[in-house]
Amino acid sequence: MVDPATGIAGVKVIMDLLKLATEKLKGPKPDVPGALTLIGQTQQHLDQLRSHNFELERQLLKAERENFELQKSQQQNDAWERAQALYELKVVYGKTRLYVPKDGADRQLCPKCFESDHKEITLQGGISGFATCPVCKGSYQVRQRTQ
Ligand SMILES: [Zn+2]
Repeated sequence: MVDPATGIAGVKVIMDLLKLATEKLKGPKPDVPGALTLIGQTQQHLDQLRSHNFELERQLLKAERENFELQKSQQQNDAWERAQALYELKVVYGKTRLYVPKDGADRQLCPKCFESDHKEITLQGGISGFATCPVCKGSYQVRQRTQ
């Protein structure tokens, strides 16, 4: 894990080296070899800083991805909580327990899809006594079997 403070410290080192190099070039007898040495050191620090920034960018992208996934997960949890508040598990026939809307609407949800996948899939059919999930094909007895 790269620390952003290391990069800031690196920038200060580079600025100090350039300041020293500038000082060496001032005056009646400029120290050109000394200034070039300092400029060479500056370039090394710049290379380190570039690698450091690349690593920081990589970490930032990773953190952004993780944040996105967490937000998505939170939204799914919120949606699931809202959905759970809309339905109740009720005995519809015999031992058949299905999720039905609390508002009294005449439909039943597939309990497997609702509980396992958090999907509100309305069971279909039921005239023959059995209603079927169009997604998982689960079949549930919802009334007395007709002849
Ligand atoms: Zn289902």
